[in-house]
Amino acid sequence: MKLTKGIITVLAAALAVAISVTGSYALTIYPIDRAAILAGQRFDFKVEFDRVVNIQDIKVTINGKDYTRVFGKNAEFIEKEKGVNPEASAIILRDVEIKTHGKYTVVADDGMNRKVVAWEVYPINREIKKAKNIILMIGDGMSIGHRTAARILSKGITEGKYHSKLSMDDMPHMALVGTSGVDSVITDSANSASAYATGHKSSVNALGVYADRTPDPFDDPKVETITEYVKRTRKMAVGIVTDAEVQDATPAAMAAHTRRRATKAEITQMLFDVDVDVLMGGGSAYFLPMSTPGSKRKDNTDFFNVFRNAGYTIATTKAELSDAASNPKTMKLLGQFHTGNMDCALDNLFLRKGTTDKFPEQPGLVEMTKTAIDVLSRHKNGFVLMVEGALIDKASHPLDWERAVIDTIQFDKAVEAAKGFAKKRKDTLILVVADHTHGINIVGTIDDNKEAEQMRDKIGVYADAGYPDYKDEDKDGYPDSIDVSKRLAVFFNNFPDYYETFRPKLDGRFVPAVKNEKGHYVANEKYKDVPGAVLRTGNLPRKASDGVHTADDVVLTADGPGAERVHGFMDNTEVFRVMVNALR
Ligand SMILES: [Zn+2]
Repeated sequence: MKLTKGIITVLAAALAVAISVTGSYALTIYPIDRAAILAGQRFDFKVEFDRVVNIQDIKVTINGKDYTRVFGKNAEFIEKEKGVNPEASAIILRDVEIKTHGKYTVVADDGMNRKVVAWEVYPINREIKKAKNIILMIGDGMSIGHRTAARILSKGITEGKYHSKLSMDDMPHMALVGTSGVDSVITDSANSASAYATGHKSSVNALGVYADRTPDPFDDPKVETITEYVKRTRKMAVGIVTDAEVQDATPAAMAAHTRRRATKAEITQMLFDVDVDVLMGGGSAYFLPMSTPGSKRKDNTDFFNVFRNAGYTIATTKAELSDAASNPKTMKLLGQFHTGNMDCALDNLFLRKGTTDKFPEQPGLVEMTKTAIDVLSRHKNGFVLMVEGALIDKASHPLDWERAVIDTIQFDKAVEAAKGFAKKRKDTLILVVADHTHGINIVGTIDDNKEAEQMRDKIGVYADAGYPDYKDEDKDGYPDSIDVSKRLAVFFNNFPDYYETFRPKLDGRFVPAVKNEKGHYVANEKYKDVPGAVLRTGNLPRKASDGVHTADDVVLTADGPGAERVHGFMDNTEVFRVMVNALR
């Protein structure tokens, strides 16, 4: 058979399709299809081709116009992207923006393949009432089961009626929010917090970027965070408060750009680079130079010095924090109260377990929230503050519902503090939301006094459940004890092998499973001999050490200028839109 030019073209096309079908890539455009971009928000524009292409064959248009006319500059052409196999080309244009709002159709063509995506570029809605300050409260992993149990334990309930509401219940606007990401129906805290902080979807473990195909975690196409945007366009102040490491996913999402949330040493630098005004939580192991015991850095940068030299007041204990708060000159504040994640409220405020022996002076989330608001409200251009109740999630993974719920109560008290500030002023938008859910439900009660052969038979369901006997006689809003004789029966719907003890873990946070020699997680024998403990065979892959996130919608409640946009079902990227639309 004579190989005519036509036949060669067909064969080559078939080959390319073969590669794209079997190989690894399709033509990809970032930002992705259906991206909603704030007019003027900065982002990186990238096109990944599915093979090595000639630059002459590349044609990229936006609404029919060559992309260079829209962005005003040429992209960098990368013939063979580093670490990408099979070899393939790409073009990337950093730090661009589109000022004119409208619908945009982006077409990328390499002479053989074509990709079309649609973007919506939206303006700030001038009709919306404006806020001077925005406070975003994120209860990490906080699900409806956590809220209900927190209301029972904190507010009390009699004959079906609660004695009062949680602070986050009592807000005029509410919506359900979907949390799935680019790559999966199940999100992690990185890409869900990233959606709140940038208005763009991302992938599991990625922060402030679209996760591309190169192995380098720092070259992925970026999208501007609300922190960068309000600092650049309005010289506003920004605060980040958490009881996890400040480099952990949710706080980091306010400032970082990385494909991997684990790059915590670099995230510390990114938090400094965005000129955050108030930064509080744990994670000092990534501030300390590697020569200092306990440091997790791989260099000798001393970030305490870096922040101090940049004019930050530094607090490492509760006492130092209140000194900083009461000093009217404090305009920039770094609070570092633990080398890792801080201790949860049950251990820090009540049981003094966990690592409170090593870190006895940890403030709680409420103190940190109040101090952050005090310092930030000294800035004349207003502020954006993100407060994360991180330990709700970190106690839910190991199935420790009591610790998760006590932290939910603490988080709600931080919401109360924020609402107290806003109430006096009417110029502050408050949003209270979770970043994803856990599979937690209240199925009844467990009554130690019930005569029963097995602990499980002491569980009361339906009419048998009645009510638990938690009390709050000292009126501090927390149950005086979690180890009461008639407790809530709360279970998680996904779990590794573990021993269910039907009791609170008073000696420290639950560790349900441990790794065996095969690398599988098996039930932690430590709990085997707890009276009445039963072995539950897991329903997760054996490589799962803990319970996992779920895809259920989260609840968003809102109050203040711009809150009226919160209603019905919303996508998590729309929370960013609610915030920027409220900006003056
Ligand atoms: Zn989590």
